[in-house]
Amino acid sequence: MTWPPPSPEIEAKTRERLQAIYQHARASFAEELAAIDAAVTQLETGALDEPQQRAAERAAHRLAGTAGTFGFPEATEPARRLEDAFAHPLHPDAVHRLATDAAALRTILSGNQAPAPEQQEPLRPDGRVLALHAADDLDAQIRGTASALGLNIAHDPRESDIELAIIDLAAPNAEGLIRGYSERQPPVPILALADTASLTDHRTATSAGASLVLPRTGSPIDVAAAAKSLFKQPRNGQFRILAVDDDPVMLAALPAVLATEPIDCTTLEDPRKFWAMLEQTGPDLVVLDLDMPHLDGIALCRIIRTDPRWSTLPVLFLTASTDPAAVDAIFAAGADDYVSKPLVASEVRARIRNRLDRVALYRALADTDPLTGLVNRRRLEIDFDRLSALASRHQQPLSLALLDIDHFKRVNDTHGHGIGDLVLRWLAERLTEEFRGEDVVARWGGEEIVIVTLGMSGVDARQRLTGFLESIRGTPIVLPGRPQSSLSISFSAGVAELGFHGDDLHTLTRGADAALYRAKRSGRARVLLG
Ligand code: GH3
Ligand code: MG
Ligand code: MG
Repeated sequence: MTWPPPSPEIEAKTRERLQAIYQHARASFAEELAAIDAAVTQLETGALDEPQQRAAERAAHRLAGTAGTFGFPEATEPARRLEDAFAHPLHPDAVHRLATDAAALRTILSGNQAPAPEQQEPLRPDGRVLALHAADDLDAQIRGTASALGLNIAHDPRESDIELAIIDLAAPNAEGLIRGYSERQPPVPILALADTASLTDHRTATSAGASLVLPRTGSPIDVAAAAKSLFKQPRNGQFRILAVDDDPVMLAALPAVLATEPIDCTTLEDPRKFWAMLEQTGPDLVVLDLDMPHLDGIALCRIIRTDPRWSTLPVLFLTASTDPAAVDAIFAAGADDYVSKPLVASEVRARIRNRLDRVALYRALADTDPLTGLVNRRRLEIDFDRLSALASRHQQPLSLALLDIDHFKRVNDTHGHGIGDLVLRWLAERLTEEFRGEDVVARWGGEEIVIVTLGMSGVDARQRLTGFLESIRGTPIVLPGRPQSSLSISFSAGVAELGFHGDDLHTLTRGADAALYRAKRSGRARVLLG
C-alpha cells in the first residue's frame, strides 16, 4: 500500500500532539522525580529501605523511557544513570552523584517547554468516530472511557465519517435516532443501552435496527469495548495495533505518534488483560513493552508464539534497555523487531509500516475472494467466531443465511461466463451495500454467498433478505457494451439462527443449506427459515 510520505507538516503535527499529551504527563514526571528525591534524601540519612529503592529505580526507568519522547532527550542520560545506580546496593558515598543527577533531571524537566498550542484539536488517535446519544448520567462516563480507548465522539451527529452510534434508550427520541442511523447509506451499526429489566426496551431497540443491546447499568468500559469490537475488520488499508505498556504516558504517546497513519491503536496498561484484549481486537500487530510488572513483554511474546492462531502475528518491542542481552532475549522470544525508548516518532512509524506492509499483502491474498471482493471462507470463520462470541456474551440473536443464485447456469449459458462473473460481482456489491458494517458477507463457493447478521433473529433476517430479494428482482443489470439489453436475477436462501438451528458455523450452515434446498424445491426466488 502507499503510505503518506513523511512531511514536515506531519512531524510538526505529531510534535503538537505530543505537546498536548505532555501537559498531562507533567503530573507523572513530578511523581517520578519525587520518588527519586525521596530515595536520595533517605540514602543521605541512612534510612533508604529496599521498597523505596525499588520505587526510585522504577521511577528513573520510566523517565529514561518517556522523557525523551516528550522533547527532553537530555533527560535520558541522567535517568539511565540513576536507574542503574538504584538497581544495585548503594553506599552512602554515592549520595553526591545521585543528588547531582536528580537535580539535573529536575532542571531539565522543568525546562523551557514550548507552550502548549492554543487549543489542542481533539485527539483522533485511531480515526474511528462514533456518535453518542445518552442521558446526562451516562454521557460523561462513556465519553471519558471512549476517549481513553482511542475512540472519538463526533461533535455533530450529522458528520459523515460516523462509523457507529451508541444510543441510550433513556435519551430523548432514542427510537427515532436508531431508525435514522440504520437508514443511513451505508447504514451505521448501532449499540443500544437499555434498562435490563425492560423486555419492551430490548424489542424496541432491535426492531428499530440496533445490532447490540447492553444494560444501561453496565460499566462504561464494557460499552466502549463492545463498540470497538462492533467495528468491522479494518477498512481496506486500515490496520489495528494493540500496544501494551505499564506506563500510561507511553500509551498516550504511541497513538499520537501514529495519528497520521491509517492505524487503529488500542492501548492496554495491565498486561494481565492482554489475552482477552487480543481476542477482542484481533490486531494486525502487537507492540509490547519489555519491562512490565506481573507479566513482562518476553513472557507475552512467548505465549503469542505458541498459539497457532497468533503465531504469525508481528510483534514489535519497545525497550528502554540498551543491553545486548535484552535485545537477544527479545528476538529469542520470537519478536520481529524492536524500537528503543525514548521513541523517535519517525523511527516508530517506519518500523511499524515495514511490518504492516507485509500484513497488507498477506491479508489481501489470504482473506479476499478476488472475483467478488467479498471475504472468503477462511475470513468468514474468524469473523463468525468474533460475532458469535459477542452474541453469546451479550445475549443477542445471530443469524446466518446461505444464498444461491437461481438458474445461474442459464446466465452463463446464455450470456457467457464473463457476464456470469459480472452478475456475481454485481450481487456481491448490492449485498455489501445492504448489510451493515459489522455484518459479514462472504463468498461460500461458486454462486453461493453466506451472510451473518448480529442482532437479528432468524425471523428478522428472513424478512430482511426477502425485502432485498424483491428489490433486486426488479433491478435490471445493464450489460457492458450492450446498454440496450439487460438481465435480472433472483436467488433462493435458507436462514438459520444461532442456538436454534446450530451452535457453530458448521451446524448453522448445514441448517441454512437444508432450508435453501427446500426453497429451491418449492419454486425458487424465496427465503425460508431452517
Ligand atoms: P439453481 O437455481 O438450482 O441453483 O440452478 P443453478 O443453475 O444456479 O445451479 P447449479 O448448481 O446447477 O449451477 C451453478 C452454476 O454456477 C454452474 C457454474 O458454472 C456457475 N458458477 C459457479 N461459480 C461461478 C463463477 O465464479 N463464475 C461464473 N460465471 N459462474 C459460476
Ligand atoms: Mg444456483
Ligand atoms: Mg449452487
